[in-house]
Amino acid sequence: MNSLKQKILTEGKVLSDSVIKVDAFLNHQVDPTFMQLIGEEFSKRFTGSGITKVLTLESSGIAPAVMTGLSLGVPVVFARKHKSLTLHEQLYSAEVYSYTKQEANDIAVSKDYLDDHDRVLIIDDILANGQAALGMVNIIDQSGAALEGIGVVIEKGFQEGREVLRKHDIRVESLAAIESLSDGQVTFQTKEVLSQ
Ligand code: 5GP
Repeated sequence: MNSLKQKILTEGKVLSDSVIKVDAFLNHQVDPTFMQLIGEEFSKRFTGSGITKVLTLESSGIAPAVMTGLSLGVPVVFARKHKSLTLHEQLYSAEVYSYTKQEANDIAVSKDYLDDHDRVLIIDDILANGQAALGMVNIIDQSGAALEGIGVVIEKGFQEGREVLRKHDIRVESLAAIESLSDGQVTFQTKEVLSQ
């Protein structure tokens, strides 16, 4: 998605060889008009998959997920993060190791909002090592719902997320795939990584 790549180049800030800040339009300040285009693009890519629900993780995934749900005409559920979750029979829960915060959190979704009739599309802001995505996959498995795929706004292609998800046979669509953040420069993968 060229407009996204442009936005990353002009508004993103490379913090290190592995971390990019995209607070200006994605995960602190949100550009709603642009986010709507992102939602439409995900919706287009997953048209025909019979999606009944979009699942994301608070808080950074909510903006692109809501716009995707709007475009697909389906509800959006966001998994909640807790430092430590005591066992709760009304919740599906999983542990996720956070790449940016370097700590483990439990994430949880109420059993009221996901069940074995659902076909789920996971949407998230950034794919790094795939731990957030795997936590959501775990929750979908517990619910008995079908996972149709994962859409990420930005994929950091130099980290293992896509490979981890490929091993689970999961379709991954990213709208911009970064090859490198070395020397303070963003380089995109020249060829779009083919989805499965
Ligand atoms: P993963 O679980 O794939 O390792 O990391 C995914 C989550 O970590 C994303 O939802 C995102 O919030 C956060 N994250 C990972 N890498 C970056 C990054 O370079 N910049 C920002 N802003 N967040 C990141």
